This record gives sequence, structure tokens and C-alpha cells, in this order.
Amino acid sequence: MPVSEHMVYLDNNATTPVDPAVAERMAAFLREQFGNPSSLYPIGRKAKEALTESREAVAGFLGAHRSEVTFTSSGTEADNFAILGVLEAHPDKTEIVTSAIEHPAVIETARALEKKGITVRYAPVDGTGLVDLDFLRSAVTPRTALVSVMHANNELGTIQPIEEIARIARDKGALFHTDAVQSFGKIPIDVDRLGVDLLTISAHKIYGPKGIGALYVRRGTDILPFIHGGHQERGLRAGTENTAGIVGFGEAVRVLTGRMKKDRERLEKLAERLKAGIESRVPKVRFNGHPERRIKSTLNFAFPGLEAEAILLALATKGISVSTGSACSADSEEVSHVLLAIGLRPEIARSCIRMSLGRFNTDEDVTTVLAELPEIIDKLRKISSFDPAD
Ligand code: PLP
Repeated sequence: MPVSEHMVYLDNNATTPVDPAVAERMAAFLREQFGNPSSLYPIGRKAKEALTESREAVAGFLGAHRSEVTFTSSGTEADNFAILGVLEAHPDKTEIVTSAIEHPAVIETARALEKKGITVRYAPVDGTGLVDLDFLRSAVTPRTALVSVMHANNELGTIQPIEEIARIARDKGALFHTDAVQSFGKIPIDVDRLGVDLLTISAHKIYGPKGIGALYVRRGTDILPFIHGGHQERGLRAGTENTAGIVGFGEAVRVLTGRMKKDRERLEKLAERLKAGIESRVPKVRFNGHPERRIKSTLNFAFPGLEAEAILLALATKGISVSTGSACSADSEEVSHVLLAIGLRPEIARSCIRMSLGRFNTDEDVTTVLAELPEIIDKLRKISSFDPAD
């Protein structure tokens, strides 16, 4: 059990504990293998074989071929690569379309492109976080190089209708990318069924190491590298590979293969108990996200009248780790763009807490939170003189 007994870690969407099998495999690899996979003598070849094994494991889990998986330094780099690499390969196209609730890895890349003269259209979402498909239909034009809409949102868990969005992009001759960092390993993903051209994943959200991600690139997709140098990753991503990280990524996927469905069922039950418990014990709590189309292990609640940061700190004193929907600032600009996009007022968005469950959470964890949280909310509301009866 990688998390200490006294700690209740409910921030698995931020990062996950490394699975013991992954840590073991990486440690053995680091001890025994130092070869450069580009070297042609035996220790280089061995390192290359280890990369190929991991690439096959990752590709297999996506329903892809190993030649379609490019390892990157992170999910963030994979998102940047998808967007910048496609634009670079399509100099005749000057538009991209994305959504208002993307991760900063996409949104900030889009904003940087706007400064360089690229037209970016941001699709709004409804109150549950679902993207407006009519907006997308009118926003994608023959000048659109890429549509990028995330699979599952990191703050709400809302799952987008990716097959439909991919069709909208394809009908207008645009490529389609999805950031699947938060869905990979939680729900089944098949790149052909989704109809995506590009898809981003990251190892540290699936009990693998940090600092390693991958971009799936469908065979035949026009994309250019944005990191230049050697010929690693079939010339798509220069730089000596993070061999131990890639081996850890492959092992994390192998572990998942045997247990994803069971884990999901168990976590859904735990999360449902946590959700029902909070809703019945805390007055005026408000659930954010889609009731059904959601990664069920992600729970986001508003606690009107309170600052999320105060709740987070009070929970931390009880050994419970959660995350807020906003940076610690009274400035409304720093409130989560996702929560504002679903229509929350800034003061409500500032009261939101995200709890995300993972493989190592137990029934006892839920019991602990249900014992501590209502009292914390009650105390904080008394201090802030919020009256839930109002
Ligand atoms: N995309 C989403 C939806 C994420 O949740 C994250 C991480 O929080 C990323 C991208 C970035 O991945 P990484 O931490 O590997 O850069």
C-alpha cells in the first residue's frame, strides 16, 4: 500500500500513487539497464526492446498499432505536439477549434497561437460541462486545421460525445485531437471507435511515473515535430528517450489491463457512497458535473458561503487531501475557467472542492471523510456567519 495508513488521498485526478509493480519494474530497469536505445550494440538493443514492449502495451490498450504511439515528456507536451504539429503541417489552414473547459495544456497553447494570428474558437458548454455541438458545427470551417476537445474533464469528470465531435471535424476536413489524460485507464478507449486522429495520455494518472506521456497519431496523419534534433520516435520527437519512464508507463498499462473494469466498479460504488453521504449530511451542498456522462470517481461540490481553500486546509489537518477549483486568490480571474464555463458565479466557483478517488482508496477512507467533512463545513459556516437556512 503506497499511501500511508493515516492519509486519505482524494486527489487522484491530480496524480496517482505509483503502483508497487511499476516501482519494482522501474527500479530493476534502472539498476540493470542504462543503454541508449539508439545504440546498435547489445545494451542499446535491449533498451530499444524495452521501449518497443511498452509501446506495444500502450498501443494495445488504445486499439492502436505501436507505430502510432509517440512517447513525450508529459501529457502537456503531447497536447502541445498535437496542436502545434498539425498547424505546422497545414500552413494553408489558420484556424483551430477547441472548448472552453480544456486543460491549460490545450487552452494556453491556443491562447499563445491567437497571439500569432491563428483564429481560435472556444466552444461553450452547458451547466453539466457538455460541449455545445451546434456551436462546433458552425465553428469548424474548411480553414480549420484541428479540432481539439477533451474526452473527460479533469475538474468535473464530464465525458464528451467524442465520436460525434470527431465526425463534425472530419466532415469539414479538419483533424481531430482529444486529450484523454483523465479518461485513459478509467473507461475503455478505442481510437477507431472514437474516430480520433490524435489522442493524448499521461502515465502519472494511471499509477505510473510522472514526466512521461504519449501522443497517439493515426497512421497517415500530417503532423510535423515541434522538438527538433535526433531521429528518436521515428523522427517525430527528438531527444534520448526517458527509458525508465517509458518502461514504467508500459508496466502501469499492463497492471491496468488486468483490473480496470473491477477497479472502476468498486470506485463507482465508493464514490456513490461518498456523494450520497455528503449530500445527505451537508446542507446546501451543490453537485457540479453531469449526472450520468461522467467519470464517476470524480466528485465536485460547491459549498456556498465558504472559500474552498479554507475547507481544503481544514481537511488537510485531518489527513485528507482534496483539491479546489480555484487558485488561492480573491481575484475572479483566478477562479477555475471550467467552473465559470458551466455558469457558476465566481463566489460559488470559489467554494468548490474536487474529490477524485483512485485504486488505493478504501471504504474506510469514505467513512473518514463522511465523519470529518460535515463538521468542518458546519464550523466554517458558523465562523463565516453563513446561514444554510437562507
Ligand atoms: N490534460 C488533462 C485533462 C490533465 O488532467 C492533465 C494533468 O492534470 C494534463 C493534460 C497534463 O498532463 P501532464 O501532467 O502529464 O503534463
